[in-house]
Amino acid sequence: MREWTLRRMRPFLHLGSSHLTSAGEAMSTKPRRSIRLVRHPKIDGVGVCCLTMERERAFYTFVEIPCEIGGRGFAVHKLGMGTLYHVRIGAVEDTSCECLGFLRHGTCRHVLGLQALVQGEKL
Ligand SMILES: [Zn+2]
Repeated sequence: MREWTLRRMRPFLHLGSSHLTSAGEAMSTKPRRSIRLVRHPKIDGVGVCCLTMERERAFYTFVEIPCEIGGRGFAVHKLGMGTLYHVRIGAVEDTSCECLGFLRHGTCRHVLGLQALVQGEKL
């Protein structure tokens, strides 16, 4: 995807920390992960976002659900797939997801994506 294409669309939010060289300068390479809010949940509670990882792009629907154990809770569903994940974002201790990526690495695309949308004041 060309850079100018990204600028003409809604801005992508980059996930995770920025890529820095050992000298602390930003590298000129494109970000490897990004998220874009396609449909805002304020319309009817259902949001849609587009997650891009490397060359893979996937759309997710999400609904915020009440969370009484800390953080904000979301039910996240990848379009075209049957798996529904319950995701919590917030402080580190209030972060969780049911996917294998989170179980293995302690973070995942769902957590990073929703956090990026919240930090970008999209949600
Ligand atoms: Zn996950």
